[in-house]
Amino acid sequence: MDESMRREQYRDFDATELFCPNCRRAVPVRKRLLLVLANGDKYDYTCSCCGTSVGDKLVTERDNTILIK
Ligand SMILES: [Zn+2]
Repeated sequence: MDESMRREQYRDFDATELFCPNCRRAVPVRKRLLLVLANGDKYDYTCSCCGTSVGDKLVTERDNTILIK
């Protein structure tokens, strides 16, 4: 039950630079909301130089109130 440490690692992934396989170097990335899922929001990171998708992240809202209608 070490949820706080896990969340910190996820936060670290919210970097402004990621490795782009197309540019073959670490590049500044753009964060884009890709999907809104039932368990969280999925973000897509694209290279700001060539537009290649270099990663994605699922941001869960488990600690927040989940609205069920
Ligand atoms: Zn690139």
